Amino acid sequence: DSAGRSSEVVRVVTERDRSPGTSTARGKDGKLTWRFRAENVRDVAWGTSSRYLWDAVRAEAGDNDQDGSPDSAMVGAFYRPEQRGSHWDESARYGRHSVEFLSRYLWPYPYPHMTAVDGPTSCGGMEYPMMTCIGGVWDTLGMYEVTNHEIGHMWFPMIVGSDEKRFAWMDEGLTQFNQSQAMADFFKGFDDEARNREGYLNLAQSGGEVELMRHGDRYPNYGSYGVASYYKPATVLVALRGVLGEETFNKAFKEYGRRWQYKHPSPYDLFNTFEDVSGRDLSWFWRTWFFETWKLDQAIDTVTSAGDSLEVVVTNQGRAPMPVHLLVTRSDGRADTLTVPATVWLDGSKRTTIRVARGSGVKSIEIDAGRDFPDLDRGNQVWPR
Ligand SMILES: [Zn+2]
Repeated sequence: DSAGRSSEVVRVVTERDRSPGTSTARGKDGKLTWRFRAENVRDVAWGTSSRYLWDAVRAEAGDNDQDGSPDSAMVGAFYRPEQRGSHWDESARYGRHSVEFLSRYLWPYPYPHMTAVDGPTSCGGMEYPMMTCIGGVWDTLGMYEVTNHEIGHMWFPMIVGSDEKRFAWMDEGLTQFNQSQAMADFFKGFDDEARNREGYLNLAQSGGEVELMRHGDRYPNYGSYGVASYYKPATVLVALRGVLGEETFNKAFKEYGRRWQYKHPSPYDLFNTFEDVSGRDLSWFWRTWFFETWKLDQAIDTVTSAGDSLEVVVTNQGRAPMPVHLLVTRSDGRADTLTVPATVWLDGSKRTTIRVARGSGVKSIEIDAGRDFPDLDRGNQVWPR
């Protein structure tokens, strides 16, 4: 109990404490009975070993019950001593950051415990309510990543109860996206979003990509399942954030969670919440990225002088209609971004002309300098080339 209130990781059970009567109570006739009880959970899991060590620490979860004072959860790690080689002795610290970060980024963690359990390699990383089984060999980056990812599943699908088989992206994709936000915070600017984007672009370029709105059992191979369930939806959320702006995106993302916690949303409930909160018709976005495997390849075709302006012709060499974010950098160092809405492509146009005031001289023009959108070929997005 005191470990669950400690702001420093407590080594509750060490190698010296593992015997009856020290780390566990002595039962009658050598037997002990444990009874477990949990609220608002949709599954149960259990793990045990006579060799486990136990670390624990408090995580601040925010004011979950809205009584004006902060709530906390006890984060624990159970692992065999040799698993220190895979940084299990950091697991409780990683778990605390994960619970605290996601409680701020999404909404307060509602459960009293979160426990990471060292398990067989076949566990990989597997989520259960308030518990994750993690197996295999990890470096610190991978150990934080898998710990955060599985803890992220407490929000999706443990709280927001989507159908993991029918629409795997609804929990895996959202969790993969949230993991990137947490890793950027924990590893100070680490770009996990770029890793997701690369995973998607590699398959998109080589062919064999399958649309997201497909049953989890009906992918031709694990590669296409993995991209459609993890990397592409995570990348698509980054793109949606780029379309809506961070503030509106965050508001809609949290609102989706608020509306659907402890319920069973379908993809249309997510689509509807984003349209409702942003006040925009995003049907072109959903169709492109969830129902089709259309690709994005915006390019600067020509830049010509026209009086006191430059005429920039932007082409879309893929089928995905997306806004054009044009970063214009001036000779004096000033830079501003022009946005052309996605609607310019919806009549089937493959090119659009953007007028840029010449002003003090234009040094360079770049499409999507912020890398919000998963464009197949970035080489044709910069002028001059
Ligand atoms: Zn997952």
